Amino acid sequence: MEQKSINDKPSNEQVRQLKLEMQALEDKKRRLQLELKSLQTSCTHDFIETAIMRKCQKCSWTESMYY
Ligand SMILES: [Zn+2]
Repeated sequence: MEQKSINDKPSNEQVRQLKLEMQALEDKKRRLQLELKSLQTSCTHDFIETAIMRKCQKCSWTESMYY
């Protein structure tokens, strides 16, 4: 039993570390999305149109043609 609990410890720690990293990445992703959004808001879009949507060549903003 004691050996098992010793073996479990590193894996618990690993899980904890992974969750912390995931949380940090989520936070970073949120920040980057805000940054991208602000770039896209100030962009003078240069669209490439396709049948279903159009996409800005500069900032990758996409708009669906189905509205
Ligand atoms: Zn744009």
